[in-house]
Amino acid sequence: MSKWFKIPPGDPYFCVVGSPIAHSKSPDIHLAFGRQCGIALRYERVEIPADCFASAVTEFVAAGGRGMSITVPLKEEAFRALSIHRPRAALTGAANMMTVTPNGTTIGDNADGTGLVRDLVDNHGLNLGGRRVLLLGAGGAARGVIPSLLEARPSALIVANRTIQKADYLVRRFHDLGSLQAFNYRYVPDGPYDLIVNATSLSLSSEIPPLSSAAVGAETCCYDMMYTADGHTRFLDWCRDNGAAACYDGLGMLVEQAANSFALWHGVEPDTGPIIKGLR
Ligand code: NDP
Repeated sequence: MSKWFKIPPGDPYFCVVGSPIAHSKSPDIHLAFGRQCGIALRYERVEIPADCFASAVTEFVAAGGRGMSITVPLKEEAFRALSIHRPRAALTGAANMMTVTPNGTTIGDNADGTGLVRDLVDNHGLNLGGRRVLLLGAGGAARGVIPSLLEARPSALIVANRTIQKADYLVRRFHDLGSLQAFNYRYVPDGPYDLIVNATSLSLSSEIPPLSSAAVGAETCCYDMMYTADGHTRFLDWCRDNGAAACYDGLGMLVEQAANSFALWHGVEPDTGPIIKGLR
C-alpha cells in the first residue's frame, strides 16, 4: 500500500513534489498546457518531506506515475536518488524534474536554467552575449541556472553571496564553462551591470540583499526569481527606485521550465505566452 501515491486507472499521472507544496502553481500550469495542446493528463501536488524522496519515487513508479516536477527542498536529494541524469542535471547536481520510462527507469533533469534564459531572451528580448551579469545568491536556484547563463556567453558572470565559501564552490564547480567570479556583497566589482538576477531567498521575507545601489544603472535589467501576483517584489521596487531600465519577476521562469518539462513528457511544445498572461 503506497503512503503517498494512489493512482486509479485513467489519464497519464504527473505531480509536483516538495515541502511545503500547497502554494505550487505547477498543476495549474501543466493542466493549462494540456488543455491548450489537447493532451489528457492528471497533475497533482504531493507533499513529500525532506529525506523521503527515494522511497516516494519507488512508490510513484510502482503506482504507475509518469513524471514528477521536483521543488524545494528535494532537488539535490532527488539528484542523489535518481540513477540516470540528463546532462543539465549532471552539471548542476540537482534535479527539478524526473521522467519514468516505459520500463520503469527514472531519469533526472534540470530545466531551471533553461527556464530562466528562455524567459530573459524569448519573453523579455534580452541579449546576454557579451553582457556583464551579476547573480545574487549561491543556493540551489543559483547553482541550477549558472550553466545556462554561461552558455549564453556573457562577458562576465559575477556571483555575490553572504557566505563566500558557497559562491567559491560554485566557481570551482563551473569554472570550465565560462568567466565566473565570486565575491562577498561588500566587494562586488563596480557596476552598473547589464543584468542583475536575484537568486537569494530574501524576497520571500520582503528583504533585499545588501547590494550597493552602484550596481544598478539606467540600462540595467533586474530579475527576481521569486514571483508574485502583480510582479512586484521588494528587490524589484528597490531596483526601480535606483533607476533600473526594466524589472521582471520569476513567473516566466517558472512557466518556461514547466514548458520544457511538458515538452519532454508529451513531445509537444506549449505556447507559454497565454499561460503567463492567465496566471497574472
Ligand atoms: P536556498 O535556500 O538554496 O538559497 C538561499 C540563498 O539566499 C543563499 O544564497 C543564501 O545565502 C541567501 N540568503 C538567505 N538569507 C540571506 C540573508 N539574510 N542575507 C543574504 N543572503 C541570504 O534557496 P533557493 O536557491 O532554492 O531559492 C532561492 C529563490 O529562488 C527563492 O525565492 C525561490 O522561490 C526562487 N526560485 C524560483 C524559481 C522559479 O521558477 N521562478 C525556481 C527556483 C527557485 P547564504 O548562502 O549565505 O545562506
